[in-house]
This record gives sequence, structure tokens and C-alpha cells, in this order.
Amino acid sequence: MLLLVAGPHAQGIAPATPLTLITRDGRRPVATTLINGQEFIGLDDLAALFQVAVREDTLTGGVIISYKGRTIVASAEQPMASVNGRVITLPAPIARAGRRLLAPIDIIPRALAPIYDTPIDLRRASRLLIVGMVRVGRVAVRIDSVGPPTRAVVEVTPPLLVSSILDAGRLQVRIDADALDIAPPPAPAGLINQIQASTQTTTLIFVLDPRAATPRVSTTTTTESTRVTIDVPAIAPTQDTAVTPAPAPAAQPTPAPAEGVPPLLGNPAAGLQTMVIDAGHGGDDAGVHGPKGTLEKQITLDLAKRLKTTIETRLGVRVVMTRDEDRGVSPDERDAIANNSKADLFLSLHVNGAPVDSVKGTEVYFLRLDRTGEEARRSAAATEVVLPVIGGGTRPIDIIPWDLAQASHVDTSSRFASMLEEELEKHAPMGPRPLQQAPMRVLSGANMPAALIEIAYLTNPEQEQRVQSADFQGGLVQGIYDAVVRFRAYLEAPATP
Ligand SMILES: [Zn+2]
Repeated sequence: MLLLVAGPHAQGIAPATPLTLITRDGRRPVATTLINGQEFIGLDDLAALFQVAVREDTLTGGVIISYKGRTIVASAEQPMASVNGRVITLPAPIARAGRRLLAPIDIIPRALAPIYDTPIDLRRASRLLIVGMVRVGRVAVRIDSVGPPTRAVVEVTPPLLVSSILDAGRLQVRIDADALDIAPPPAPAGLINQIQASTQTTTLIFVLDPRAATPRVSTTTTTESTRVTIDVPAIAPTQDTAVTPAPAPAAQPTPAPAEGVPPLLGNPAAGLQTMVIDAGHGGDDAGVHGPKGTLEKQITLDLAKRLKTTIETRLGVRVVMTRDEDRGVSPDERDAIANNSKADLFLSLHVNGAPVDSVKGTEVYFLRLDRTGEEARRSAAATEVVLPVIGGGTRPIDIIPWDLAQASHVDTSSRFASMLEEELEKHAPMGPRPLQQAPMRVLSGANMPAALIEIAYLTNPEQEQRVQSADFQGGLVQGIYDAVVRFRAYLEAPATP
């Protein structure tokens, strides 16, 4: 028999901020109820979320929660539970509201976490329930100096990759994590008019004052954390107030990433350390629609996530995603993420569509240069300049304009594209022209070898069905993985004249 929660609050009220569940598959709100100041979760919800079995224990009047042969017995009379025979305390006993059984949410970290197969972390302050191996960045923002220049500092723990983009007076600082645990940001000050930060996204936004000049963003990473320092200078009175068009070519004496501008520094370390995987489309831009309603943006994201896991765990190569959720990203932003992460390789994923539904097969693309691009490629060697570096010394810097950044990499890109074609052929039916050159916008701004795969034709009913299968995607992942392994060996091989 279970006790009713007495008093007028027995129905409970929803908390001001819902609890958000974060797993590798994404995030979703978890319904909880406040009763007499204590937060409860329905045991039916707990059962669904964690795949546990819940039944009432008629002997003790409590509930028995089982998971893979392990047992929690929670009391309806005492604020405690027995976890595999060990007693733990809870802030309140099991309660009943109407027909539902409720447990204090503390049952999750105190009773369920110790018997669960994957890590569970309840972060009360940030209202996050993190389940599984999820990369969560703890983020704290502070204003160090009102200035000008106004200095804001973003501390990210543990160290994570950070990229930044300046877009229409908004500096977007994007953190490569599955989720952020963000302390409430400070009040804006100086030339920063607004700081937008929430646990709902992995991007912080600093809205700049109209009097602000282009901010300087620098990142330092230690074994403990990544620190992003943002200095926002005022527009000098004599200076032309025209806003620098973004993206624009810029030569910077340090490799600090800045507002959507590729650092354009050659990667001094040969080999493959960082790879960018670009899931095509996203947000309002769904890409190709299949006849059964399958969306290109979803397939590309699924495959990108699988690839990231495989390449990172099996190859030890850092993988940066241009998006890891359903959101729109401009081609320039995709390239900026790649260039700012100093990636050694860029792979864009798409699914094709054709007016005739019989067309099918996988196709690999690399960039075709127009005439200007060809000229840029021929003169690429001549456009290298040597700039002084802070602290002494010099460093050669490419001054290839942004939209021709790919020009000097076309030959290497064609190598990678051929390897992709050869490896994918072993796993998927190829299209009539499996390897093609095309003037693709998303490839042109990448300052590194780059290729694009149209993994299938979504307009072909058979391919629409296959493209969603784990089998087909697994084959593609294997093919791409094998091509990346070959390409890495090619990069690491001693240069042949
Ligand atoms: Zn596409």
C-alpha cells in the first residue's frame, strides 16, 4: 500500500526549468513534478527512460525497480531505498499522485546510477541529466575588463575544440561538445551588449555594440581547460567604419582563430590529425525529400555521427562536425569551422536527387575550378608571403582569397576522392559517373583537401529504403574509413618529387 502525499499540493507543479536529458542521441525534456518543494519523477517515466522494470511490492508497500538482475527496493513510508542490499537515503519516500507512482529524482543518482551500465550524472544547478559517454563542457563566462577593449573570457572544462564566427555584429563561439553545462552568464558590459548562453545549444552568442570594431579571439588550451579570450576594441575615430565583409581573406600573425576568417596557415605537421565531417543541409534546409518522406538532412547527420565515432575511436583522428544537430549552417560557416580547426581533411556528406526515379548510386565529387581558380592554382606558390610573428621569427602565410582557398589543394583532393570512390565501390552500388568534378560552393572555401559524397539517390524508392538501414550505412562508414586510412598513409609518406 502506498501513502498518498497529503495536503493541497498533492498534484504537484512543474518546475520552472524542465530537466533536460542528454544522451549521445540528443536531448529531450524529462517531466518532473514539485511536491512540497521536492522534485519527483514518475516511475513510469523512469522505466521508459532507463529501461528498468517497476512493480509495487505488496509486502513492504514500496516499489521494486529491477535492471539486469540488480534491484532497488524503495519504501513508501521511509525516505530510503535498498540498492542491491545497501541502504541509501532519499529526501522523501515514494509517493502517489492519482494513479502514478513518483520517486524523488535523487533516486536516479543515488540508487539507479550505482547499478546502471552507463554513467548517469544529474547536474541539478544546470538542470541536466546526462546519461552515457557524452561530452559535456562546463562553461563559465566572465567579463575581465569593461574597456575598451572589452575583454570577455570563456572557460571551457574539460578542454574542447572551440571555433568562432562573426556574423552581423554577433560573435558566435561554438564549442565542440554534445552539450554544455553553462553557469548563468554575467551582465553585459562595455562593447558587449548581450551575452546569450543556454544549455539548449553549444553556441554562445556575444552581441556587439555598434561602436565595436572586429573582435580578436584567441584560444589557449591546457590539460585542464580551454580558455577563449575575446577582446572587443572600439572603432577608432579616424578609422573607416565600414564593416569588414565576412568571410574575407586576412593574414594573421598568430594562428588564433577569428571571426569566420580562415587562418590560412599551412599545417606544419604532416599527416592527418583533424578531419572535418560536414553533414549537408540542416534546419530549414532539409535537402532532398524522398518519396516516403525521408529527408537528406537527417541521413547526412546520422552518417556523420557514425563516421565521427568510428574515425575517432579506431583511428585516433580528431573529428570536428560542422553541425551535430538539426540546424542550418551556411557554406561559409562550414568552411570557417574547417579552416579555424586547422583540419587536414574535409568531407561533406549529401544525398542526391534526380528528376527520374530510376537514377541511383553513390557519387564522389571534388572541386572543379573555374578560370580564376585555375589561375590562382598556378600562381599559388607566388602568393605566399612571409610575415613576422609575435615573439620574433617569421611564418609563411598563404594569401589565397577565401573563395579560392581550395585551389591549391585540388590535386590532393582528387587523390582523396579517388580513394573514396575505390573503397565505396566495395560496399555500395555506384552511380553512372562515380567520380566527378563540380564547382561546389561548400568545397571552394576549404583550405585543405576536400571531397563530397552523394551517398545515394533519395528519389529512387529502393535507395530511399536502403539508405536508412544500419547495414547500408555501416558499409558506407567502412568504405569511407578505409579511404581515410589510405589517405593518411599517403599524407604521411615521404614527399616524392
Ligand atoms: Zn545536398
